[in-house]
Amino acid sequence: MQNQTVAFSKDSSNLFFHILTKCNLSCSHCYINKEQHGERTLPIDTIRDWLELFSPKAAQTNLVLLGGEPTLHPDLHLAVKKARHLAFKSITIDTNGYLFHNILEKITPGEVDFISFSLDGATRDTNDMIRGEGSYKTILSGIQRARAKGFACSMIYTVSDKNIHELDQMPDLVKGLGIDRFFIQVIGMRGESSPSLQGSQALRASNLQVSNLQVSKELWLETIPEVAEKIAAQGIIVTYPKVFLSNGDQFQCAGNVAKNYFVFPNARVYQCPICEDFPLHSHEIQDNKLVAMPQINETDLFKLTIPEGCVMNKMIQPGNLAYTKNGRPRHRIACCMLKQELIP
Ligand code: SF4
Ligand code: SF4
Repeated sequence: MQNQTVAFSKDSSNLFFHILTKCNLSCSHCYINKEQHGERTLPIDTIRDWLELFSPKAAQTNLVLLGGEPTLHPDLHLAVKKARHLAFKSITIDTNGYLFHNILEKITPGEVDFISFSLDGATRDTNDMIRGEGSYKTILSGIQRARAKGFACSMIYTVSDKNIHELDQMPDLVKGLGIDRFFIQVIGMRGESSPSLQGSQALRASNLQVSNLQVSKELWLETIPEVAEKIAAQGIIVTYPKVFLSNGDQFQCAGNVAKNYFVFPNARVYQCPICEDFPLHSHEIQDNKLVAMPQINETDLFKLTIPEGCVMNKMIQPGNLAYTKNGRPRHRIACCMLKQELIP
């Protein structure tokens, strides 16, 4: 089994394209923030134009179509077909499992690389407490339906203090599901996951350790790598955020050394997912062109070097930092885009 940190590269790119912000669920950790991301459902012609905008590098770009709930978009299938026509390196749909508008009937397994399902608990009680009544059953049946039609499926489990205790049950749960990839994500103090922190209020409240969803460093390190290995041992590729850098690990900000684009329906384009709660976007799409925003924007933050690692982390979630009595950070926080990958 290969167990490696995935190095940042400017030769490959990730395009996270939020085609709408509407959703049928209201998960407790949802990062969608309509004030910052808009409320539009993008018309299919706009989606096509924006895909074309990123298409000169399509062969190097992994495209993720997401929302809100992307299957609520009646023309999602046309977006997939356009993206396939433009030859994006990979195409993934991130869904909450409800698979609206008969999406499985309108696209073929050859047109998408993955359908990715979000599940946030090994049991119905925990998942439904976080994601909403009935969602557990719907997700599992959605995976079965997609697999039966030959789609490759992946699963995303967003870890918080509400569900980390069930992560060790996931290796058994995924056994019969036929998924190919398993992504562990970490909860952040973002969007509606931090209801007391909207927009710029989060910056002002930065030294209040208000998030009761994040898990401690000890619990993260005790739990995540072991579960990841157990799942990978079943032949499933597992990816999880590195979060804490070890001595000797180099800190890098993806904003400086990688190409990630987070596109929202209000035409904002971010390069850092933690910046998405603020009007700090580095670009906007105007007349189907990517236009750089004036200073100050997220790119000014990418240039800052601090001993704690990620600048945005220090500003909005300082609760995961600790210091020696001399004031030196006990550990550095990696860029949230830095992943550890286990390949069976
Ligand atoms: S996390 Fe996803 S499924 Fe849940 S409310 Fe937000 S957009 Fe909807
Ligand atoms: S999470 Fe931190 S390190 Fe990563 S892109 Fe954003 S500011 Fe840079």
